[in-house]
Amino acid sequence: MPEEAADHAARVARLQAQLVQAPEVRLAKRTSNLFRDRVKVRRPRLDVRDLDHVLAVDADAGYVDAEGMVPYDALTDACLVRGVMPAVVPELKSITLGGALAGVGIEATSFRHGLVHETVLEFDVLVGTGEVITAHPDGAHADLFYGFPNSYGTLGYALRVRARTIPVQPFVAVEHRRFNEAARFFEALAAACAGDADFVDAVVFDAGTLVLNVARFVAQAPYASDYTFERMYWRSLLERELDYLTVRDYIWRWDTDWFWCSKNVGAQHPLLRRLFGRARLNSRTYTKLMRLNSQLRLTPLLDRLRGWHRESVIQDVDIPLPRAPEFLDWYLREIGILPLWLCPIGATACADRFPLFPRQRALYVNFGFWDVKRTRQAYPPGHFNRAIERKVMELGGIKSLYSDSYFSRVEFDAAYGGAAYAALKARYDPQQRFADLYAKCVLRH
Ligand SMILES: Cc1cc2nc3c(=O)[nH]c(=O)nc-3n(C[C@H](O)[C@H](O)[C@H](O)COP(=O)(O)OP(=O)(O)OC[C@H]3O[C@@H](n4cnc5c(N)ncnc54)[C@H](O)[C@@H]3O)c2cc1C
Repeated sequence: MPEEAADHAARVARLQAQLVQAPEVRLAKRTSNLFRDRVKVRRPRLDVRDLDHVLAVDADAGYVDAEGMVPYDALTDACLVRGVMPAVVPELKSITLGGALAGVGIEATSFRHGLVHETVLEFDVLVGTGEVITAHPDGAHADLFYGFPNSYGTLGYALRVRARTIPVQPFVAVEHRRFNEAARFFEALAAACAGDADFVDAVVFDAGTLVLNVARFVAQAPYASDYTFERMYWRSLLERELDYLTVRDYIWRWDTDWFWCSKNVGAQHPLLRRLFGRARLNSRTYTKLMRLNSQLRLTPLLDRLRGWHRESVIQDVDIPLPRAPEFLDWYLREIGILPLWLCPIGATACADRFPLFPRQRALYVNFGFWDVKRTRQAYPPGHFNRAIERKVMELGGIKSLYSDSYFSRVEFDAAYGGAAYAALKARYDPQQRFADLYAKCVLRH
């Protein structure tokens, strides 16, 4: 057995032994992109921090095999040296392969390849019984293969994942097409998804400024723009119609400024930006600062002193394309946190096979918005997040569960495959070693 495989097997055996000792567990990871303050529950932690190795990249066969806690920047670098990339690479460098599989991942190739879990070929899961099961689309554990996405670590932990790769070229040419009204913008977005682009996403700056980004791999480029230090990618969308980046810089174009959220830690102020320096301008730094702020409750105190009522609204919601203009119109009127990231998700062959993240085999638009809603008027806790949930359900959409949720149990089970989940939980975690999905994602346990 090659050394890497032997080391992997030893790490897995150690985790199995640790799990069966404990009546219940939770993960001990290096990083997390979960955005909800969790109720402090004393659960032994399963130390998976060293399960972050890339095991194999087979560019000809079109897949990469890696351990579940490998962060996407390390995974992508291991692929790029062989002329490929994972078919869908979420924007934030610290997101892990297993976390994107269990927690749903998306990026600008999703219009063609779907969500991260729709690009996965097989994976090994440490389930509640202590067994390690290999899940394939067919065979004895096909229910786990299709039931694992959006389970948020409550059915088991993905220890090894095999995901599809796609060939790359050294550079990416990106067009920024500007629109001043939504109807023509959504028509162009649909047309771009039906065309030969390699990447499609968009940003809404306000009701009259909507920028569609259509990008393609190219072998050569007259120049390569650098947005890893002084300049900011999000601003370039309003300054340029055409741009060229190296493929690696294109993949991480949003990480340097956490889309545009680096403003919340002052990193867009020229002097502070220099103090941060190139090495610290990234989502890992900002996540640490945001967690520190959340512990110290600094900005809530400042807002209260200024007479602001606040609600954190950090969400990604997926809306079927035909209802997307309606959602945008409602969102701009009722929520209005801007800019807004839009990312189309294609009608892949398996799109409708995942019971815990149910969607039609059709084109959807992901709307991502991450900030605080400040008002002079006081509202009940979760008022705006609750309104978003109702609107998403009304429009036949679905919401990611990495942040705050206020669904009732009945609504949650209807929206996220409650019956299928109960059957999976009974089969793969009969002793309830892992938390329950509703308790974890809504009750914050
Ligand atoms: C501001 C912001 C922007 C975001 N933007 C995007 C985006 O553009 N694209 C995108 O795809 N996603 C985005 N996300 C969501 C993010 O992808 C998900 O939250 C994802 O689950 C995080 O993965 P992680 O590896 O950081 O896992 P964590 O945050 O550590 O874990 C997420 C959940 O998955 C479980 N989990 C983690 N690893 C495993 C494993 N190996 N096996 C089983 N369960 C596991 C954990 O228990 C936890 O419940 C964003 C999140 C935030 C906060």
